Amino acid sequence: MDEPWYKNAVFYAVDVALFQDSNGDGIGDFKGLTSRVPYLADLGVTCVWILPSYPSLGRDNGYDVTDYYQIRPQLGTLDDFLEFLHKAGEHGIRVILDLVVDHTSDKHPWFEAARRDEQSRYRDYYIWSHDPPPPPPGQGTIFPGQESSVWSYDDVARAFYYHRFYSFEPGLNVANPDVQDEICRIIDYWLSFGISGFRVDAALHMVEPKLLDSTEAEDPHGILRRFHDFATSRRPNALLLGEVDENPDILEATFGSGNQLDMLFNFYLNNDIFLALAREDSGPVIKALQVLPEPPKTAQWANFLRNLDELDLERLSDEERDEVFKVFAPEDGMRIFGRGIRRRLAPMLNGDQRRIELAFSLLFSLPGAPLFVYGDEIGMGEDLAREGRDAVRTAMQWSDQANAGFSTAAADKLTAPVIDRGDFAYRQVNVANQLESPDSLLSKVRSFIRLRREHHAIGSAAFRLEDTAESSILGHSYKSGKASLILLHNLRGAERKAQIDIVQAEGGRLRDLLSGEEQRLERRTQTVRMEPYGYRWLLATPD
Ligand code: MG
Repeated sequence: MDEPWYKNAVFYAVDVALFQDSNGDGIGDFKGLTSRVPYLADLGVTCVWILPSYPSLGRDNGYDVTDYYQIRPQLGTLDDFLEFLHKAGEHGIRVILDLVVDHTSDKHPWFEAARRDEQSRYRDYYIWSHDPPPPPPGQGTIFPGQESSVWSYDDVARAFYYHRFYSFEPGLNVANPDVQDEICRIIDYWLSFGISGFRVDAALHMVEPKLLDSTEAEDPHGILRRFHDFATSRRPNALLLGEVDENPDILEATFGSGNQLDMLFNFYLNNDIFLALAREDSGPVIKALQVLPEPPKTAQWANFLRNLDELDLERLSDEERDEVFKVFAPEDGMRIFGRGIRRRLAPMLNGDQRRIELAFSLLFSLPGAPLFVYGDEIGMGEDLAREGRDAVRTAMQWSDQANAGFSTAAADKLTAPVIDRGDFAYRQVNVANQLESPDSLLSKVRSFIRLRREHHAIGSAAFRLEDTAESSILGHSYKSGKASLILLHNLRGAERKAQIDIVQAEGGRLRDLLSGEEQRLERRTQTVRMEPYGYRWLLATPD
């Protein structure tokens, strides 16, 4: 059987409103995105994740959906979306959409009907209580400091409604079969246009028992199995990529036998990558790789460095999180919710290109499929003057022209200001500057993508941790037929030597996939000199 496409996909996350404006209204749109498909194809990404582009009041970056069957008018029409989908398809690029069904907007017609009429069929689409119980431990509000409870009183319904997220995002009662039918209808609708699947928002919050008795509460994963069965019955290999920030045992249960969520964001590894980068030591990544479950045959990890969200460090202990804060978010204003960092990748790494490349090299070579967010390929910065998580949600920097080439609108009409000051201002950091330079971050990222697409062993073969005899150097490898792909990453900002055993031993050849240099293997143990923050992709083959 062929492997599912997503096991070796390269994912690229796009916020349409911030990518490219085509009509000068200051808001990015699908026509603009369509005009940039050649850029995406040249970059080499194979699947675009479109962040929520449904109608919404825009109070939670589009995650407060008021209509699941339309495109937000500011972003274009349904035809504009289909035009984009078609153009992407012409370039071999797949598209997945955000499926945000843990909750709706409080302005969604379902909630409007539910709160007005206790007899309405929509009443049970949500979770109501006249005397709300306190949430079980660990199930409080997602946004401490911004929300004080998971229950809010509704004057019209004269009852409390449940919400794990913002109070304007009432939680859907996903245990209700009618709600499950609605979700299947949404899945069917968008799959029918030819998208390849969904990124499932708050995937596990969605099936929490929600404090109520129900048969589903005993088997919350049954709901995920139902969505999986439905989606794959409509489109073979339809992807459900779940946002599940949990510990390894729960991740394993959420993969199931490959019949729930096909991919899981690898938050666990992500946190340990940042701890390893902060310590300049490979230990945390080694630990993560040792304790993470192996995904079932048809499933995969989605590895990532940053999302268009806070860098949530909940998988670390308090002490470990403080270590990461101290190095990558030294000021209070860089932190959020007491658990995360509201910065982009490049500024966290002080704009040091060697170190940013090292992080990307890890992303593209660790077991799983890589996912990164627009703008990180050129090393964009954040705008800490913006509120909360919006710090990282700034417009794509295309060129040194007005508004970074994002829009022809007046600067005060932009949906988000462009970054025009400091080391990460668009005049220095932009696509046009980097496109032609072989040493630019953009060119390096393009090389990593090419390598990742050539070497499916990373997404398919079992990995092996390699002893490098140096704690700052992470070594891991994949065996594919008679060849071994060996990856070395020096996390320290100083030159180091790795000693590795190469199974092919004498008589084989060792090729550096980045420099193209090749050597004969004279002996089994090789000493490899590693530059500060250096990385090597080595292919060992027998003669
Ligand atoms: Mg526009």
